[in-house]
Amino acid sequence: MMELRFDDATLRLRVGFSTSASQTLALHQQLHFWQNERGGVLLASSVGASDGVVEVVRVTPPHRDDRAGWYWLKLDHARVLNEIQGAFDQGLHFVGYWHTHAQVRPQLSSQDVDAMMPAIRGAGLDLQRLLMVVVGGRRRALALDVCAVDCATGAWERLVPEPASRSVDVGLDIEKGRLG
Ligand SMILES: [Zn+2]
Repeated sequence: MMELRFDDATLRLRVGFSTSASQTLALHQQLHFWQNERGGVLLASSVGASDGVVEVVRVTPPHRDDRAGWYWLKLDHARVLNEIQGAFDQGLHFVGYWHTHAQVRPQLSSQDVDAMMPAIRGAGLDLQRLLMVVVGGRRRALALDVCAVDCATGAWERLVPEPASRSVDVGLDIEKGRLG
């Protein structure tokens, strides 16, 4: 299984998703209309300060204290801060959030960014930018929209997926909810 890669030449930012991070995202795709949005935190081995390379090696799964409807999501604030601290103790850095859309071609919306900004400011996270990843696609075809958000202004840029990363089969047996 290949890694997923996204690029933005202007931002000097390259984002990769490890196999296990991709599989966790695929496990929580919002494939059916009755399923709620889900989300979590993106953790990377490096924040790309020097080379612009961010390798997302782990994503946290949805949590029962999150509140979600079909098209909105509010992550439990305490759990997010907990996860960020726990990951930092293991040498991993918080680089952003993921959540699902019931879309074959997922797209971040301005409402998504507006909803996330208070959380960032409230958390006192000292970040210049963070990633927002929207998870969509079909069964056995994971698709991601990867955007970089400027934490000061809320302006955001969409990263371009490498051709092989537009939609990938991550080898999940979704019906059984496990790796296949
Ligand atoms: Zn959304």
